[in-house]
Amino acid sequence: MTSSAALLAWSRFGFCASRTASSSCRVLVRSACSRSWSSGVKVRSYLQYVKRKLRPPPTPPYSHVCQVGDPVLRCRAAGVDPAAIAGPEIQRVLVTMVTVMRRLQCVGLSAPQVGVPLRILMLEYPWNLFEAVPPAARRALGLSIQPLRIFLNPELRVLDSSTVLSQEACESVSGFSAAVPRFRSVEVSGLNEKGQEVTWQASGWPARILQHEMDHLDGVLYLDRMDSRTFVNINWQEHNE
Ligand SMILES: [Zn+2]
Repeated sequence: MTSSAALLAWSRFGFCASRTASSSCRVLVRSACSRSWSSGVKVRSYLQYVKRKLRPPPTPPYSHVCQVGDPVLRCRAAGVDPAAIAGPEIQRVLVTMVTVMRRLQCVGLSAPQVGVPLRILMLEYPWNLFEAVPPAARRALGLSIQPLRIFLNPELRVLDSSTVLSQEACESVSGFSAAVPRFRSVEVSGLNEKGQEVTWQASGWPARILQHEMDHLDGVLYLDRMDSRTFVNINWQEHNE
């Protein structure tokens, strides 16, 4: 894998974000995560102050991705009531997640990343992103075109416990990347957006995305699994120019 191909691959590996679709979700965030704040100090510009006076802050599901430090990213997400999947609150979360994932051109997203601490993840690897990667890099990374897949209350089973070390990044750790070991092949079972039971086996890059997104549902970030010596600012070269 060439460095340019790797960089391209990292830039396409934007996983996760969440928002709360209901008041119960927001309560969960506050009660479970409020103790996680490392500092109560909040620094805002005067412009931000005026903006908030004129317009109330957004509420989950956000149209942006929560960044590391946000307690919602360190919570264990709650299961979704299957009877609520067809309802407007969950459907709104799903639509928001798809919109955010496609706008940011990331290949996977979890509900906690848009501020919603529920066990929901999705992934998609469209043709336009696939064709932007050189063929040799596609083979090296195990890339493949993937349609949109949505899993609620997903369970992961390891099919091949050998691990592959590859560079990945996260929309919630914006601007950085690191090599992370992941299982070669996994199987995910859960409910789809219609509440139907679905199972899917994945290997290569899709398996990596799945494991990354599953981690988000348990409050785990790639930072917790990375080879720390490979951790880089993806724009480090620009700082020397
Ligand atoms: Zn992520």
